[in-house]
Amino acid sequence: MADMPDVAVIGSGPNGLAAAIVLQQAGRSVVVYERSDTVGGAASTGELTLPGFRHDVGSAVHPLGAASPLFQSLPLEQHGLTWLRAEVPLAHPLDGGRAATLDHSVTVTADHLDQDGPCYQRVVGGIARRWDLLADAVFGPVLRVPNHPMILAGLALRGLPPASMTQRPLRTEQGRALLAGLAAHTPMPLSKPGNTAVALVLAALAHVSGWPVARGGSQAIADALAAVLEGLGGTIETGRQIDHLEEIPPTGAVLFDTGPRAMAAITGKRLPVLRRRSYRLYRHGPGVFKVDFALDGPVPWSAAACRKAGTLHIGGNAEEIAEAEQAVWQGRASNRPFVIASQPTVADPSRAPEGKHVLWTYCHVPSGSSVDMTGAIERQIERFAPGFCDLILDRHSVGPGELEDGNPNLVGGDIAGGRTDRLRMLFRPRLSLDPYTVGPGLYLCSSATPPGPGVHGMSGYHAARAVLHAEGRDPATGQTVRQ
Ligand SMILES: Cc1cc2nc3c(=O)[nH]c(=O)nc-3n(C[C@H](O)[C@H](O)[C@H](O)COP(=O)(O)OP(=O)(O)OC[C@H]3O[C@@H](n4cnc5c(N)ncnc54)[C@H](O)[C@@H]3O)c2cc1C
Repeated sequence: MADMPDVAVIGSGPNGLAAAIVLQQAGRSVVVYERSDTVGGAASTGELTLPGFRHDVGSAVHPLGAASPLFQSLPLEQHGLTWLRAEVPLAHPLDGGRAATLDHSVTVTADHLDQDGPCYQRVVGGIARRWDLLADAVFGPVLRVPNHPMILAGLALRGLPPASMTQRPLRTEQGRALLAGLAAHTPMPLSKPGNTAVALVLAALAHVSGWPVARGGSQAIADALAAVLEGLGGTIETGRQIDHLEEIPPTGAVLFDTGPRAMAAITGKRLPVLRRRSYRLYRHGPGVFKVDFALDGPVPWSAAACRKAGTLHIGGNAEEIAEAEQAVWQGRASNRPFVIASQPTVADPSRAPEGKHVLWTYCHVPSGSSVDMTGAIERQIERFAPGFCDLILDRHSVGPGELEDGNPNLVGGDIAGGRTDRLRMLFRPRLSLDPYTVGPGLYLCSSATPPGPGVHGMSGYHAARAVLHAEGRDPATGQTVRQ
């Protein structure tokens, strides 16, 4: 019994590893069980096409990761993580060889936005300037007293209306397209409330953390987290799929870096019937269809700014993006989808053999859709980069089914850990002051808990603190503070 761990974590995504680190730092002995042969979950990298071409299997661009208070507190650089930033964080190509861009500087971005520039300076510039005061709210659970209530109230007031409404006063096609593309990171129509907040936070982060990629691929983030954990004495067992709690040794706490439905299935009768039922009925959002390309050269974008960009929003003007996202919500795969793309080789040539490039793309599709979107994605890129298709050496396409087979957290291809409408990104998996505790000794730590999707580890951080709180320990020292 002496060698029994104090805590088990099921799943080694960024949140599972983050939770394990916080608990191990507090003196608890932790073992992580991961079904795959490698750690990282949706933050992993592999040669999906040709030898020497390294593609991100899930996440690619990390505004949240670089700004994460937890990641910033860990010695990840000492364990091989280097953030690399493209000259232009984000470009949004438009017809006629034009583009809207998000620059590292607020002023340069505002200048490009012409008549919409002053509004950008005021709103996004204001958020970027006050980021240090807002970070705690953006990365924290919602239902608690915020450190800076007035500043948070300001963001909430501006962020609550749907992007379709917020864009009305904007005068330029560039301004409206930029807002629509940023808001469409949430898989829901632009007419739903809440997506303006996502757009504002993502835009501000371009000026705060710069939308970087990890040198060598997102796997470097997971590998660095795993190295920190193992350096603290934690253990990771890969190739260990856990289907029942009886498969792991009895521990004081079990944390699930899984979806709520999977957690309910694994815990079985350890949860009361009604609570188990509520987790089993947890709702997921639309899925994604992802295509990775190995290319013979850089993407020949018509707009010069796009050639220097790390991330691209491809889908034309705001109306086209709204139409594409609305179609997905209504259960139809759009034949002119809104495509999010990352060209990491612009900042990180190590991802491909010399002179070659990789391109990472995905678009939203209805949950579980079996429609092959490869052609539609290629047509959208070709529209803004004529000659693109001639450069394709190889491609690797996966739809919702294959994504879920690779990682059961991606239910129906949902990469957001659950639906995001009706502010469900914030109040998940259920409305509760403690969304992490699901039962005595049982905790959910995946992106199905606040602050929601993204590689930032903060769901894991808060779940770990819920464990320490329940054990009556000081989260900072791990010492018992009450009997
Ligand atoms: C295609 C795609 C693109 C994305 N793009 C971005 C992006 O650019 N930037 C960004 O910040 N975020 C992005 N995300 C989202 C981000 O990757 C996720 O929000 C984040 O990885 C969630 O972390 P997690 O630890 O909660 O879960 P996951 O990363 O999903 O990890 C869960 C882990 O648990 C394991 N597991 C599940 N069930 C079991 C079980 N029963 N037994 C053992 N192990 C189990 C899985 O194998 C997996 O390793 C993207 C995701 C995808 C899929």
